[in-house]
Amino acid sequence: MSTDVSTLIDRYVRDIPDYPQPGVVFKDITPLLSHPTALRTAIDALAEPLLGSEIDLVAGLEARGFIFAAPVAVRLGAGFVPLRKAGKLPAETLAESYDLEYGTATVEMHADAVPPGSRVLIVDDVLATGGTGRAAVDLIRRAGGTVVGLSVLLELGFLKGREKLADVELRALATV
Ligand code: AMP
Repeated sequence: MSTDVSTLIDRYVRDIPDYPQPGVVFKDITPLLSHPTALRTAIDALAEPLLGSEIDLVAGLEARGFIFAAPVAVRLGAGFVPLRKAGKLPAETLAESYDLEYGTATVEMHADAVPPGSRVLIVDDVLATGGTGRAAVDLIRRAGGTVVGLSVLLELGFLKGREKLADVELRALATV
């Protein structure tokens, strides 16, 4: 019998307390990445609800989102778009900044990556406060794309990121 994806996430995503700063519990996905069945099950579970949907592009958030977004794109017959931290993309970019607890962060995308009318799925590993996801949605909509959904492995429900994304089809394989 195959093991349920939320059980695999529970087993292979480990908590690292006080990383990268005191008070934060970091969800480390590297044990899941190195486990062949857990990795394949997570990618299949991200793609499965969207099989048959019209999706042109899957946008992955740097860096851990890339690991899942590219194979999900292949499964859905879509292309891949990298959403990167500021200053990493070589051509003309669109940028969205958002507030962190201290300071701001910026997500960038190539200005020509999402042709107007494209249907785009966003993929990341963890949804925490929702700021990154919100910025990604706004960036794709500014380019003229339609956001089909935002899919993550793990949602940190207690941070209420979902509330910032009430206008988006948000799917999480597991919630803590
Ligand atoms: P947020 O914008 O707060 O939703 O944060 C989401 C982004 O930060 C994702 O790209 C995650 O990879 C990363 N992230 C935030 N909090 C955590 C955490 N506790 N453990 C692992 N990754 C996190």
